[in-house]
Amino acid sequence: MRILVWFRNDLRLHDHEPLHDALQMGKSVIPVYCLDPRQFGQTTFGFPKTGAFRAQFLLESLANLRASLRSRGSDLILRQGKPEEVLPALTRELQADAIHWHEEVTAEETQVEAAVVSKLDALGVAANTYWGATLFHVDDLPFAIAKLPEVFTQFRKKVEAHSTVYPTFPTPQQLPPLPAGLEPGDIPTLTDLGLTPPPQDDRAQMHFPGGETAGLARLEHYVWQADRLRVYKDTRNGMLNPDDSSKLSPWLALGCLSPRQIYETVQRYEETRVKNDSTYWLVFELLWRDYFRFICAKHGDRIFYPSGLQGIKIDWKQDWPRFEAWCRGETGYPLVDANMQELAATGFMSNRGRQNVASFLTKNLGIDWRMGAEWFESLLIDYDVCSNWGNWNYAAGVGNDARGFRYFNIPKQAKDYDPDGTYVKHWLPALANVPAGKVHLPGNLLPVEQKRYNLRLGVDYPNPIVDLQRSVKATEQVYNAAIARHRR
Ligand SMILES: Cc1cc2nc3c(=O)[nH]c(=O)nc-3n(C[C@H](O)[C@H](O)[C@H](O)COP(=O)(O)OP(=O)(O)OC[C@H]3O[C@@H](n4cnc5c(N)ncnc54)[C@H](O)[C@@H]3O)c2cc1C
Repeated sequence: MRILVWFRNDLRLHDHEPLHDALQMGKSVIPVYCLDPRQFGQTTFGFPKTGAFRAQFLLESLANLRASLRSRGSDLILRQGKPEEVLPALTRELQADAIHWHEEVTAEETQVEAAVVSKLDALGVAANTYWGATLFHVDDLPFAIAKLPEVFTQFRKKVEAHSTVYPTFPTPQQLPPLPAGLEPGDIPTLTDLGLTPPPQDDRAQMHFPGGETAGLARLEHYVWQADRLRVYKDTRNGMLNPDDSSKLSPWLALGCLSPRQIYETVQRYEETRVKNDSTYWLVFELLWRDYFRFICAKHGDRIFYPSGLQGIKIDWKQDWPRFEAWCRGETGYPLVDANMQELAATGFMSNRGRQNVASFLTKNLGIDWRMGAEWFESLLIDYDVCSNWGNWNYAAGVGNDARGFRYFNIPKQAKDYDPDGTYVKHWLPALANVPAGKVHLPGNLLPVEQKRYNLRLGVDYPNPIVDLQRSVKATEQVYNAAIARHRR
């Protein structure tokens, strides 16, 4: 047998069932990746669909996968084009018998898969698909996807009681050589993809190199060397220090790391060092990731509707000047601005930051949450379609577990999670001299205080673009009107 292994969001050699099976079955195994030009187009609201940070992470991950395959006697065949055109053509050229891949669950990806399958059917080539992105396997859930609980806690309790995490598949040590004369194809540069390499920002606290090797190294560092897993639950809401949380998400998103690999590492850590609430909590968070993927598998396109999973038709605004102020981190609220500037400068933001900026956009500015979701899609190096759109559904109050009108009180969050203002001052140096007690609401500073702290509001740092309380009340009314219509 000659088998193509189509790599997608699974850019790794460890725990890779399609590759593992291909190596068991095939004499000739050909790893392939397609750079789909549609992924480098524009989002509905006109942002680069894959922005420079994420594209860079992807290109580095591909280079790393190629290097790993080469060191094992194979290579990564890279083609630019639509998979439904590239793969059948390659199949014919190489007279392959089958293609193996990990299946995805969301619209664009499943449409591509369906198109590939239909072309392969016509050629009489087998399409073998595998489930591999989650901790728990879809076949081992204690319910059918159609019966997936709509509330996370119910999902978690059932899965924890009735499912087991399958063991990882071993990393192959050697692969068969590729057919002679097969052109591997160059990995493009960012410029080739029409993107400008992002500038390095000195304020960035962490560097995220793409690829399986870097992902495994980050896991090793976080768990074993820095020994931070033991305190994860207490530190995970931190926004500044690289080791406050695992920072594994970018590697998980592109599949450079498998969640089962992380799970096995946590288990080893629990056996050899310590087992506590923190070690459990990392797995708990991975369950959120699983949950959003299963929710997408259950609800299809609904996660992308403006009315979300709940179907609540809220009159969102598309207020571009305010949206752009949010994107630039110029809202006049330091917690929001510092986080948005971090995102723009690095392609990453902590979970605490994401919750706050998403709440501010939707609940204070009343702006269409899909604009925020697309902005994140463009910028985040850990962009994961299910986690991103699922979390935005929640933030906007249209998610499956919506519990009425809920919002984050930005000054309170700032006080709780950045009490001495270190985080906001790191990203917003204009606030350097403002004391901790006042730094989160600079809009309230009197002219004499501004002078004292060497801060000219409206010049060095923007005036607030909305009043927090009035704006949240106004959005609540819009939300309540939508709920009333929804219930009628
Ligand atoms: C509006 C919004 C958008 C988001 N978009 C994404 C996204 O595109 N991709 C993404 O991976 N995460 C997303 N998240 C979830 C979360 O913010 C990130 O997973 C987390 O900040 C990554 O940092 P970490 O790896 O240090 O997380 P840790 O705290 O170390 O958590 C470990 C892992 O658990 C998973 N996880 C943790 N929290 C969540 C969550 N709320 N939902 C789903 N999975 C979670 C991630 O895989 C993460 O790497 C989003 C959250 C919000 C509120």
